[in-house]
Amino acid sequence: MNGEINAMIISQNVSTVKPSITLAVSAKAKAMKADGIDVIALSAGEPDFNTPMHICEAGIAAIKDGFTRYTPASGIIELKKVVCEKLSKDNGLKYEPSQIIINCGAKHSVFLGVFALTSPGDEVIIPSPYWVSYYDMVKLAGGKPVVIEGKLENNLKITPEQLKNAITKNTKLFIINTPSNPSGMVYSEKELRLLSDIIVKSGIYVLADEIYEKLVYDGNKHISIASFSDSIFSKTITVNGVSKSYSMTGWRIGYAAGPEEIIRAMGTVQSQETSNPCSISQKAALAAITGTQDFIRSWVSEFSKRRLYIVDRLNSMEGIRCIIPEGAFYVFPDVSALYGKSFKNAVIDGSAAFCEYMLEEQHIAIVPGAGFGADAHVRISYAVSMGDIEKAMDRFEKGIKALE
Ligand code: PMP
Repeated sequence: MNGEINAMIISQNVSTVKPSITLAVSAKAKAMKADGIDVIALSAGEPDFNTPMHICEAGIAAIKDGFTRYTPASGIIELKKVVCEKLSKDNGLKYEPSQIIINCGAKHSVFLGVFALTSPGDEVIIPSPYWVSYYDMVKLAGGKPVVIEGKLENNLKITPEQLKNAITKNTKLFIINTPSNPSGMVYSEKELRLLSDIIVKSGIYVLADEIYEKLVYDGNKHISIASFSDSIFSKTITVNGVSKSYSMTGWRIGYAAGPEEIIRAMGTVQSQETSNPCSISQKAALAAITGTQDFIRSWVSEFSKRRLYIVDRLNSMEGIRCIIPEGAFYVFPDVSALYGKSFKNAVIDGSAAFCEYMLEEQHIAIVPGAGFGADAHVRISYAVSMGDIEKAMDRFEKGIKALE
């Protein structure tokens, strides 16, 4: 069966959904490593730093204090209050605790937001390149993903005209992710204001995935779209979490803020689906958000160094075009000039074949752009050590030169 879904057995709800390509590539790289192959994995979406010790200690204290039972389904009130303070201080957003839900990772926050708003047949507008999960989450909710393409000439971002033209009477929701995974691009305040005007005029909702907000470079500033006016505030679900900013991917804590009615609906689904997010992790997240933020500056500066190195290396290779990312920890080069070339008679006919070749022959794991709605590209994570990045770029270059 090759991991494929048998539509005779598996429900219609699930049989059209694809597994996450990023997780699949990472799993294959791990399996090759376990077989003794020296694979460098540039596929995962997680910082390579350890969770800071004061955060771990809050988790340990929670265990020692016996804070190990069910919590309220939508999360503990102390954490909701702290999230309100954070959103006010960092993002200029004034929420009440009743407008906050704590979830099992920001992925779950996005899913619940999409699920709470999308009825079968509703259209959800997703700019490409998009984070792999949005498309399939919309399908899981019975909605219709409508993809609008962020073009290279516009730094892989969409224009207000594109959004306006994509809105129909069936449009329910627009998903925006800034800083973006996979492109690393950041929407400026001016660009966001223009998008916000269109959202407000058309009456649709927006889900703003701001999980990479703290990882921005070169003086770029992350702006929350919900902060512009009461009108856009009342139409926005803001999603964030602790995974990327505090290197807490395994703790599984994300959160969403928005109109009370929507947050309540998300809470109802969560109560039937997972009960509450992990009690111990909620205490650790509380320590993360209220504790020192100083280490983030040094993480950002380390990421930025790696980013500039990797972009320089890629742009020096024939057939590769890479814009300089402004945030997150990925580069998303266009490698399509190499499509049509071959290795040992196997033709590289797209991003999947390109990444398979790089994994099988050069032992570097990167992710096909096809999974992000952009087959001309591949995604390379620089959340690994500089030594591994240097080695990986040498292998990448060797791999490109070996294509005929
Ligand atoms: N949104 C985006 C854009 C992401 O890249 C990720 C993680 N890859 C998430 C949400 C989910 O984060 P979490 O680990 O908190 O579920």
